[in-house]
Amino acid sequence: MFEQLELLLPRVSKPVQYIGGELNATVKDWDTAAIRWALMYPDAYEVGLPNQGIMILYEVLNEQHDVLAERTYAVWPDLEKLMREHRVPQFTVDSHRPVGEFDLLGVSFATELGYTNLLTALDLAGIPLHAAQRTNGHPIVIAGGHAAFNPEPIADFIDAAVLGDGEEAVLEITDAVREWKAQGQPGGRTELLTRLGEIDGVYLPGAYDVSYLPDGRIAGIVRNTERVAHRVAKRTTMDLDEWPYPKQPLVPIAEIVHERMSVEIFRGCTRGCRFCQAGMITRPVRERSIEGIGEMVEQGLKASGFSEVGLLSLSSADHSEIREITKGLADRYEGTGTGLSLPSTRVDAFNIDLANEISRNGRRSGLTFAPEGGSERIRRVINKMVSEEDLIRTVATAFGAGWRQVKLYFMCGLPTETDDDVLQIAHMAHRVIRAGREVTGSKDIRCTISIGAFVPKPHTPFQWAGQEDPDIVDSRLRKLRVEINSDRRIGRNVGMRYHDGKPALIEGLLSRGDRRVGRVIERVWRDGGRFDGWSEHFSYDRWVTACAAELAALGVSLEWFTTRERDRDEVLPWDHLDSGLDKDWLWDDWQDALSGREQDDCRWTPCFDCGVCPSMGTDIQVGPSGRQLLPISPAGR
Ligand code: SF4
Repeated sequence: MFEQLELLLPRVSKPVQYIGGELNATVKDWDTAAIRWALMYPDAYEVGLPNQGIMILYEVLNEQHDVLAERTYAVWPDLEKLMREHRVPQFTVDSHRPVGEFDLLGVSFATELGYTNLLTALDLAGIPLHAAQRTNGHPIVIAGGHAAFNPEPIADFIDAAVLGDGEEAVLEITDAVREWKAQGQPGGRTELLTRLGEIDGVYLPGAYDVSYLPDGRIAGIVRNTERVAHRVAKRTTMDLDEWPYPKQPLVPIAEIVHERMSVEIFRGCTRGCRFCQAGMITRPVRERSIEGIGEMVEQGLKASGFSEVGLLSLSSADHSEIREITKGLADRYEGTGTGLSLPSTRVDAFNIDLANEISRNGRRSGLTFAPEGGSERIRRVINKMVSEEDLIRTVATAFGAGWRQVKLYFMCGLPTETDDDVLQIAHMAHRVIRAGREVTGSKDIRCTISIGAFVPKPHTPFQWAGQEDPDIVDSRLRKLRVEINSDRRIGRNVGMRYHDGKPALIEGLLSRGDRRVGRVIERVWRDGGRFDGWSEHFSYDRWVTACAAELAALGVSLEWFTTRERDRDEVLPWDHLDSGLDKDWLWDDWQDALSGREQDDCRWTPCFDCGVCPSMGTDIQVGPSGRQLLPISPAGR
C-alpha cells in the first residue's frame, strides 16, 4: 500500500515520518511469520520513535524466528483527512502493511492524553472501536505502558492490558496466540482472550463486571469467569541483564525529540515522591550491572552511530555504581566525541565530579533539577526530601565549575498547597541567580523554572486527593510571574515556562476515571479530538462539553472525577489491578503527607512495608557489586 500512501505524502507536513527505512529497522517475510504484531506509540513519530518500551518489544519479538513486529504511530490530522478521502488504512512504517491485517496491536501509553489517537488508529485500520464488536479476523488490541495501570477509561476500546514490564509477557502472549491458531482457533476470539487472561499480568476488562452505588461511586468490580484472577498482579522483569535491549537502537530519519542512544541503567525507584506514579508502580529497584551497561553502550554505539548516550532511569545518579559507570565510559570514549547525559538528576544525588565526568567528552548540557515544590513545607508533603540549602549549595558549586544556566522543575496545585508555597518558587529562583553571580562575578547567570499542574495518579499515595481547580492553579501562576519580576534586576534572568491548569484537569479525568469515561473519550474523538497532548490541538471546551453530555445522566461529572477527594473506603476503579503496593500502606503514606511527615528511601533505610517485595517474594537488589566496566579498548584508538 506504499504506492497509495506515496501519492499523498507531498500534500502533508513532515512526510518523512511516514516512510520508515530507519537504520536497524526490521522487515521480515510476512508469509513465513506465524504471529504478526503491530506495535503502536499513540503520538507523532518524533515523540514515539525514541520510546524505549516500543524499541525493546520490537527487538524482543523480531528475535523470534516465526514472529514479526512492525511499528505504527499516530498520523497527523492532515494525512488522516487524505487517508479517509483515498481509503488508505492505518499502516506500519516498516513494510507499510495495513494494521488491520496483524494478529495483535500492542499500544504503549506513556500518557492518557493519547487515548483519542488510539480511536483514530482503530478507525483508520477498520477495527471496530468497541472491543465487543470485534470478530476473529480483527487484531487483538492490547494496552501497555504506565497508563495501563488504570485502563478503565478505555475498557470499551481494548481487548486486554498488560500491567508492568512487557518483555516476558509479550512472548507468553505470542505463544498463546500461536497455539490457538495452530489448534484451529478453538472457541473463537472469546476463548483466545480468556487464554490471554490466564497469563500473569494480562488484564481482560471484559472478564470483570463493575457495579455502581446510587451516589455514583463504584459498588464492586467482580470477575465474571473463574479462569481469570480476582486481582491482576503486575509483571516485573527482575534481572535486567537478561534483557539487554535495545541492542540495535532505531536511528530516526526524521527529526525527533531526543537525538541520542539510551541505555536503561536501572528500573524502579524508592525515593518515594508521593506524586510520582512511575516511582510507585515500577518498584522494586533493579539495577543493570556495570558490565551489562558497558556492553549495551558499546554494542548500541556500534549499531547506531549515535554520538550521545543517555543513561536512563527514574533517578540515574542513584545507581549504586554511577561513579564507576560514568568514569569508565568517559575514559573509554575520551577523544571520540561520544557524549554522556543523565536525565534530570536529584539535587541530593548530584555532585560536581559526576557532572564533570558526564560532560568530559561532549558538550556541557544545561543542569536540570526537580525540587517540584517551592517551600520546605510542601516538599515534606510530597516527600521530595531536598532542602533549599542543598539546592543553593549544589548550583553554586556548578556555577563555580563553569555552568551558567540551570533549569528547575516544579508543580502547582499540590495537595495542601497555599499561594505562599508557590511564591516561594520565585524566592528560590532569585537565590539561585544571586548565588551564581556571587560565585562567578558574572551577571550572565540564567535560571529557567518549568511548572506543570499536578495530576493525582492511581497507585500513588495521592490517589485519593482532590485535584486543584484549574482557575486556582492559573491564578497562582499569575501571582508567581509577578513575584519573579518583583526585583527586575534579578527577575530578567529568570525564565518561566508553564502549562495552564485546564489540560491537567482532563488528564486527571483520564487518569482516575472509570469505564463511564469511555463514552466521553468517544464523543470527544467524534467531535474531532486528536493529539490532546499538543496545545495546538487540545480543546478544553470540547472535553467539558462531552463530559456534560455524557456524564450528567449518570449522576457524575468532570469535577466528580477530578476535584472530589475520595475517602478511604471508596472502591477505586483500579482496585482489582495490583501494582504490588499495599493499599493500606498507600493510605498511611497519604496521611503522612497531610501531616508533612517524610519517608526516606528503603535502599538506605529499613523497609517500610510498602508491600512490593513480599508480594514478589524478592527484596531490593542494589550494589555496589565492586565489578568493573569491561576494559574494552578505548574506541577510535
Ligand atoms: S517492600 Fe520494603 S524494601 Fe521493598 S520496595 Fe517496599 S519499602 Fe522498599
